[in-house]
Amino acid sequence: MFDVLIIGAGPAGLTAAIYTARNNLKVGIIEHNVPGGQMVNTAFIENYPGFKTINGADLSMSMYEQVVALEVPFFWFSVQEVKKENDYFLVIGDETLKAKTVIVATGTVHKTLGVKGEAELSGRGISWCAICDGAFYKNQDVAVIGGGNSAFEESIFLSSLVKNVYLIHHREGFRADETLVSKVKEVPNIKMMLNQKVTEFIGKGKLEALRLWNVKTNEESLLPVAGCFEFIGFNPSTGFLKDLAVVEASGYLAVDKHCATTVKGLFAAGDVVQKDIRQITTAVNDGAIAALSANKYLK
Ligand SMILES: Cc1cc2nc3c(=O)[nH]c(=O)nc-3n(C[C@H](O)[C@H](O)[C@H](O)COP(=O)(O)OP(=O)(O)OC[C@H]3O[C@@H](n4cnc5c(N)ncnc54)[C@H](O)[C@@H]3O)c2cc1C
Repeated sequence: MFDVLIIGAGPAGLTAAIYTARNNLKVGIIEHNVPGGQMVNTAFIENYPGFKTINGADLSMSMYEQVVALEVPFFWFSVQEVKKENDYFLVIGDETLKAKTVIVATGTVHKTLGVKGEAELSGRGISWCAICDGAFYKNQDVAVIGGGNSAFEESIFLSSLVKNVYLIHHREGFRADETLVSKVKEVPNIKMMLNQKVTEFIGKGKLEALRLWNVKTNEESLLPVAGCFEFIGFNPSTGFLKDLAVVEASGYLAVDKHCATTVKGLFAAGDVVQKDIRQITTAVNDGAIAALSANKYLK
């Protein structure tokens, strides 16, 4: 029986592991992908204190190694269900593990546009990870869809690899930070295409073009591109908690200031929590609070 099982090895889960292990709790961490969460897919991180700029994979590895050095066991499987039985939890997937408390740090998964051609051409030109797939499009034209920080950061990264980046946004204004918007405006091979919606992905076996609809002029056009990167938002990864009645209508988890849910012994941290700001700093903040709250609850 574990004192604490942490689900998800992104920055929130890894921080929770550091704090629980250093409190001598018997802790395990479960991850169905690689450690680091969304950080792994991020080219440059320039707002995590201590590093002027750091590659997301490097920051992931440093956090992971810190947890490994504390001898926290990792379990590599996908959690399908969490059940509460009396005073303990069953965390169920390829294995079933038992714990007195659980910290959910499963983050979010990217949204899709849901338009014609998207399902067929996913992984054949359509991608959600510039650092993973950007190199496939050296000296070719690509599109980035989105108006937030991720779309802007990843456009800058892609601009050094590809011929042109068409940054497509369905509105006139952006959600991205002003600094990023100004930076992008100075990159000659990033072309902004505003008030445009992608209505279809076109290609035989691989992406060849996007069908665009200008929401202001009502005109349709075709944009030939070899790759397209979507950064249009996220959905919370909480499907495995359906039996515990802690998931809000939004899909996110509501917690109090101690990162506690309404189920005793069940805590949540990071992007999976209902909140306004989803960043690495806010994820590690929640991870520390959830871990110390779990410690207090156990004692
Ligand atoms: C392209 C991009 C660029 C970004 N750039 C920045 C930036 O520059 N600065 C910044 O501060 N933030 C940035 N962010 C946001 C930041 O990465 C997230 O806020 C942060 O990673 C959230 O951490 P988390 O631990 O809550 O969740 P995540 O990082 O999403 O980690 C959750 C982990 O849980 C695992 N998991 C999910 N479900 C299960 C399951 N059922 N079983 C087992 N494991 C599971 C996932 O595989 C994942 O590893 C960026 C995000 C993206 C997508």
